[in-house]
Amino acid sequence: MKTFSDLIEEVQKPGLCQRCGGCVAFCTAINYGALELDEEGKPRLKSAENCVGGGLCYSICPETHELDEEVKKLVNWNAPMGRVLDAFVARAINPAVQERATDGGGVTALLLHLFDKGLIDGAIVTKETGLFQRSPWLASTREEIMESAGFHFDASHGLTLFSELYSTYSPTVVKVGYMGAKRLDRVAFVGSPCQVNTIRRIQALGMEPSNAITIVFGLFCTGNFMFGPDERSRLEKIGRFQWKEVDKINVKEDLMIHLHNNEVRHISLDQIDFMKRHACRYCSDYSAEYADLSFGGLGAPEGWTTVITRSPLGRTVLTDALGGSIENYSHKRNPLLATDVLAKAMEWSDKKKQSAKINRHERKILD
Ligand SMILES: Cc1cc2nc3c(=O)[nH]c(=O)nc-3n(C[C@H](O)[C@H](O)[C@H](O)COP(=O)(O)OP(=O)(O)OC[C@H]3O[C@@H](n4cnc5c(N)ncnc54)[C@H](O)[C@@H]3O)c2cc1C
Repeated sequence: MKTFSDLIEEVQKPGLCQRCGGCVAFCTAINYGALELDEEGKPRLKSAENCVGGGLCYSICPETHELDEEVKKLVNWNAPMGRVLDAFVARAINPAVQERATDGGGVTALLLHLFDKGLIDGAIVTKETGLFQRSPWLASTREEIMESAGFHFDASHGLTLFSELYSTYSPTVVKVGYMGAKRLDRVAFVGSPCQVNTIRRIQALGMEPSNAITIVFGLFCTGNFMFGPDERSRLEKIGRFQWKEVDKINVKEDLMIHLHNNEVRHISLDQIDFMKRHACRYCSDYSAEYADLSFGGLGAPEGWTTVITRSPLGRTVLTDALGGSIENYSHKRNPLLATDVLAKAMEWSDKKKQSAKINRHERKILD
């Protein structure tokens, strides 16, 4: 049986650890407490005596393959980019959600819809904790869900608080370990494809507290980016802007830097490859293939969210919210938009798979 030491050898040492925190969260959730995250977000042994050597930390890691078949079966996965029921382009009807959101506020509007209907009592999301910095958050009120929307650059704290180690990555999976303490047993999870993968692995094992995660929202993801001091100053030069001018950043087909004066600087993803997190080079999931619903800005007009429904649950939630909490992009205005966004998601999904394949092949890493 493979254990934590195999995880270190096979995943952490080759630089494949996505830092999802799943191994630590799960170990905490079932009260073993043998692992902890280090300062860089990587798992390490906290207490050798508490480690029972059961290998759960190894099995649930998205970079290992023990549970691949079980997970695919659980979500009825099929090639080339997971199960797809329908594609929509939607946005929140509530202008306050639209205002705060990254794209159209589709994620937040649906979380609020589920909360208002009493179908969830919390959501694992992220929270702005400083200038251009987000941390995992277990939101348990309407206000907290609302506050979790978007991806803004809050300049009110002054640039000095810009974290030296800032990354777009936020290890939301660690919050799974806290659901029991907050007595929440119907929680929605929002995360990137690697995080969704970890959640599904926990669910495939059918162990507590995974049954409390009632719905999984995945975010499209071309990769996570590091914004250390060097990266920030290079980016300023590439995009011809200064950080103090920035209002919001977003990633779609390129990196979009929204400035306070409403100008948007577009920087191609090739140009920011130097900032990409190492482990993301080996990830082949762009569209969160294991989610109930996947969300991105790709292909959608500004202020709208592309939504892929992947499970009957996801489809039901979306259709139930249509007309109440969210609205569809007018079919009359562009009858082909939904088909086009799906084609685009397929194209970007394939691109990420090809690039991961090449990178894995170069490093002789198992697919
Ligand atoms: C690191 C990252 C990379 C992305 N890359 C792409 C891309 O290449 N192409 C694309 O089309 N879309 C990408 N997205 C998704 C896109 O930015 C939007 O999140 C998505 O379109 C939903 O928009 P919305 O307005 O409906 O979401 P909102 O209503 O604004 O809600 C966003 C939700 O995501 C949560 N969240 C924010 N940041 C994180 C994070 N780091 N980790 C986990 N949860 C988070 C928030 O707490 C909130 O619950 C990426 C998102 C992230 C976080």
